[in-house]
Amino acid sequence: MSGRNTDVAIVGGGLAGGLIALALRQRCPDLPITLIEQGDTLGGNHRWSWFESDLGDQGRELLVPFRCKGWNAGYDVLFPEHTRTLGSSYRSLVSDDFHAALMLELGPQSVMLGASAQDLEAGRVSLSDGSEITARAVIDCRPFVPSAELEGGWQIFLGRHIRLDRPHGLTRPTIMDASVTQHAPYGNGDAYRFVYVLPLADDEVFIEDTYYADEPRLDKTMLASRIDAYQHAKGWTGQIVGEETGILPVITGGDFDAFRRGLEIDGVAMAGARGGFTHPLTSYTVPIAVENALAIGEAWANNSQMDGPSLAKFCRKRSRQHWRRTGFYRLLGRMLFGAAEPSRRVNIFQRFYRLPEGLIERFYSAHSTRFDRFRILCGKPPVSIPRAIRALANSGAPLSSEKLQ
Ligand SMILES: Cc1cc2nc3c(=O)[nH]c(=O)nc-3n(C[C@H](O)[C@H](O)[C@H](O)COP(=O)(O)OP(=O)(O)OC[C@H]3O[C@@H](n4cnc5c(N)ncnc54)[C@H](O)[C@@H]3O)c2cc1C
Repeated sequence: MSGRNTDVAIVGGGLAGGLIALALRQRCPDLPITLIEQGDTLGGNHRWSWFESDLGDQGRELLVPFRCKGWNAGYDVLFPEHTRTLGSSYRSLVSDDFHAALMLELGPQSVMLGASAQDLEAGRVSLSDGSEITARAVIDCRPFVPSAELEGGWQIFLGRHIRLDRPHGLTRPTIMDASVTQHAPYGNGDAYRFVYVLPLADDEVFIEDTYYADEPRLDKTMLASRIDAYQHAKGWTGQIVGEETGILPVITGGDFDAFRRGLEIDGVAMAGARGGFTHPLTSYTVPIAVENALAIGEAWANNSQMDGPSLAKFCRKRSRQHWRRTGFYRLLGRMLFGAAEPSRRVNIFQRFYRLPEGLIERFYSAHSTRFDRFRILCGKPPVSIPRAIRALANSGAPLSSEKLQ
C-alpha cells in the first residue's frame, strides 16, 4: 500500500484546516504537516468576512499572508426605523486568495489536493485511492454535520459578485440592510431578512440576500430575484462574475457532548465548524477559527510530547469551553426563533443596533461581557413577554440533516 508519513495530518483544507496548517507552519516551521483536501483547491467557494475588531494582534498577524479586501471607513446598518454608521473596519477574503497564499506558505509538498479521506483513525488517514498517511496526530476539519442532538434554526443566503456597468459610488460596506421587505413572497415561514453589500471595487459589488428561517430551504430562484430587485432599486446593472450559497445552522440549544460523540473518532482531534467552533447566532467562524488555530499552534510548539490523543483532548476541552461561554448567544437565538413572529424578528436586530459600538463588536467576536449581556437583555423587550418565557423554556427544533435540501 502506497503512502506517506507526516507529523500532523489535517483532513479538510477549508477555513479551519487551512488556518491550523498555517499556524503550525508559523510556530513550528520544521514540523512536517500534510493538509488533505478532497477539492481541487483549498477553501472551496467562499467569501469570508469579519470585523477587524474580531481579532487580536496575533490573529491579524496570522492572516497577514492572505490578500484581503479592507474597508476602513466604517459600515452601515439600515432598519425600518433606524439607520446607523458604525466605525469598525471590515475585512474580506475569497477562497482563491486563501488557496494561493496557503500554497505559497505551506509549499505544494505539504498539501494534497483531490485527496478524499475515507477513513480516519488515531495516527492514520486512509484515502479513497487506497493510499494511507501515517501521522503523529490527525486533525479532522471536515465540514459541519447537522445533527438532531443540536437545536435551532438556519441562516440561508445567496451572494453574488457583480461587475457593474458604472461606478456605484459606495465608500463602505452595508452589513445589514434590513429595511427590505420582511414578509416572504412565498409561504415557507421565512423570517428575518437583510441584504449585505460589499463595494469590492469602484464598479464591483458583492450583494448577498440572507434570511433566518425555521427550515433549511434554499430557494435560489427566489433569492436571485430578490437580489435582482435590490440591484434594480439601486439603478445598478452589470454582469454576475461569481456566486455562493449557504445554509448555516443557528444553534439555540442541544446536547453538545452527544453531538460531538456522534462525530468524534478516538484519538483524532476535531476542529472547525464540525467541532462546534462557530458563533451560535451569526453562524460565522472566522474569529473562532483564528483563535483555535493559534491555540493549536501554541500548544504544539510548547509541548514536545504532543500526539494525536493529547491534541484530541486539547480540542475537546476547548470546544466544551467554547460551548459553555457561548450559551448567551444560544439564548438570544431562542428569543429570535421562538419569541418573535418571523416578520417581526427585525425588531430584535433593530434594537440591538441602537446599543454601544463596543458591545456590538464584542457580540460579533463572541466575547460579550456580563455587562454587555445585561445591556442586551434589559429594557423594553422587542418581543411579547409570554412568548419570550415560552421560548426560553424550549430550545428549538432539531438541526437534523434530513431537513437539509
Ligand atoms: C458561502 C459561505 C460564506 C460564509 N461566509 C462567512 C463569513 O463571511 N464569515 C464567517 O465568519 N463565516 C462565514 N461562513 C461560515 C463559516 O465560516 C464557513 O462555513 C467556514 O468555511 C467553515 O470552515 P470549516 O473549515 O469548519 O469548514 P469548511 O470550510 O466547509 O471546510 C471543510 C473542508 O473539508 C473538505 N472535505 C470534506 N470531506 C473531505 C474528505 N473526506 N477528505 C478531504 N477533505 C474533505 C471540504 O472540501 C472542505 O474544503 C460562510 C459559510 C458559507 C457556506
